[in-house]
Amino acid sequence: MSNKGFVGFLFVQFALFSVLSHAQVYREGEVIVKLKGDAKSTSAASFVGKVQMEKQMSLSKSWMGMNLHHFKASSGHTTQELLEMYKADPAVQYVEPNYVFSKMDVQEADSVTGLSESQAQASSSSGGFSHNTAPIQAEDAWSVLSANAAAKPIVAIIDTGVDYGHTVFQQSSAIWQNDDEIAGNGLDDDGNGYVDDIRGWNFVGDNNDPSDDNNHGTHVAGIVLGIGQDIVSTVPRAESRILIMPLKFLDSQGSGATSDAIEAIHYAVNNGAKILNNSWGGPSYSAALHEAVAYAYSAKAFFVAAAGNSSSNNDSTPIYPAGYNVPGLAAIASTTNTDSLSFFSNFGLATVHVGSPGSSIKSTLPGDTFGFLSGTSMAAPAVSGIAALMMFEKPDMNGFQIKNIIFSGSNSVVGLSGKVNTESRINVFNAVRSAQTSSVDPSQPAYTISVDQFSRDLASAMDGGAACGLVKALGSSSGALPYLTLILLALPFALYLHARVRKTGSNRRRHDRFVVDTEVAIAVGDRMLSGRVNSISTGGARFQAEDLIERGSVVTMIITSPDGSGRIEVQGNIVWSEQNQQCGVQFSPDKLVKATVEAWTRDLKKEAL
Ligand code: CA
Repeated sequence: MSNKGFVGFLFVQFALFSVLSHAQVYREGEVIVKLKGDAKSTSAASFVGKVQMEKQMSLSKSWMGMNLHHFKASSGHTTQELLEMYKADPAVQYVEPNYVFSKMDVQEADSVTGLSESQAQASSSSGGFSHNTAPIQAEDAWSVLSANAAAKPIVAIIDTGVDYGHTVFQQSSAIWQNDDEIAGNGLDDDGNGYVDDIRGWNFVGDNNDPSDDNNHGTHVAGIVLGIGQDIVSTVPRAESRILIMPLKFLDSQGSGATSDAIEAIHYAVNNGAKILNNSWGGPSYSAALHEAVAYAYSAKAFFVAAAGNSSSNNDSTPIYPAGYNVPGLAAIASTTNTDSLSFFSNFGLATVHVGSPGSSIKSTLPGDTFGFLSGTSMAAPAVSGIAALMMFEKPDMNGFQIKNIIFSGSNSVVGLSGKVNTESRINVFNAVRSAQTSSVDPSQPAYTISVDQFSRDLASAMDGGAACGLVKALGSSSGALPYLTLILLALPFALYLHARVRKTGSNRRRHDRFVVDTEVAIAVGDRMLSGRVNSISTGGARFQAEDLIERGSVVTMIITSPDGSGRIEVQGNIVWSEQNQQCGVQFSPDKLVKATVEAWTRDLKKEAL
């Protein structure tokens, strides 16, 4: 291989990193802080007072029940600096970036080409969800629903907003109204903390208009409604049996901050929603968001989450909130009209629960129109729609029981074998029928958040000195990502990796290169880059494994910036992985390295999942 060829080859390799990367950004200069003990305790109050007094951070929002506080820097500090400043504060339980999450539909270019005839046909006559090859039996369920007299269960659409003026929602009276709020009087009549919130809230603009400036949320809301009635055919439309609560926390680009997601979840629960549809997510674990999902569970709500559109395995590469192991949460994969997994859909035998139609689904779009979208974003609301019909039949049924009935009533399909926990695709009729005939079980399992992810302390300890025992501890945490950084290359010897070497000549050619095929992941701050490495160089280090382990040798990974202009080195240590029964390399980059890679990967911010 010529020098030129070598360089070109490695460039492609770095491009692969970019394509496969799971990048999640955060709001710069913001953090979410969990304080120890009770929110009313002296230590909590004095912490909040202290940081504001010192003019380091200003308080944006507090969730007192969780002793959780959203701060913005008032001192020009970066998020990274705020994290460093406060993680060791004795009053702080944890501090994390205000991560940004994304909607989970797939881009037009990625959509399946050509609608299935049966699905398109069904769409034009019946709402788009019933077809012969993958019958979810929605229409069969409609004929057994009770008369429309009971209270309507409320489904919160935590999304980009909803075009609540759409004819479909208006004619069916499907939009939730806050009866305790007087419109336009400038007062918070019901004392829920929101002025004139007559039909939900816009957490992006912090106002009472949760309109949809994207199209995602309107489509999602239409699917929820469309599970229970025909939304596509012309008038007259029947009155809905459910209510849609529009909660906008994703902006016009489909992105939204953790702090707003937490607030939307609280609004939903505190204002009567029993089903929360969440067609969004991201790869970074947020303990604060985890607590919000647990809060919804404590209120016996059903939390429905899209599994993600990366075609990846959530068991090993989790997506949140779908990945939280809260008992009242269901993570939804997307299926096609032939009951196979949609090509984009994430899966996971342990952590993704059930399949639901999400390829080319016809539903409402803003401006009184209809259109097709694909994604696990479209699969999740079908489950929310089923849950709503079940709660219409059995208003006292809690989210946990609803979830289990949906799972047990779903149809086992070959295409989901080994892919999702139930290995099944939803069935509306079975779920509704089963809800009608089941007695209400008010109980639900106790749940407390277990620290099953890398804590900051553990990650920090990694800097102090790698040891085989530490890797064992890290390896037992079932695929969760470290907060700081860990790269474990499951290779039986030390590596000196060249992502790209611009300098040609003797220095590089002196070393042998080895063809390998292994996954490598780089976590830097809130970013996760992953890809496959297929070339390594011994780079001057002699790789006698035992020798290196004994000496605790330092390994360096060189990363060149995508445009080739910059280059950094990351130090790592050879360690033994009990889990993999192999030696690997554990890297612990410092702040400068993280900041550099951060800058290089800034362009990845806009990449949707
Ligand atoms: Ca209010």
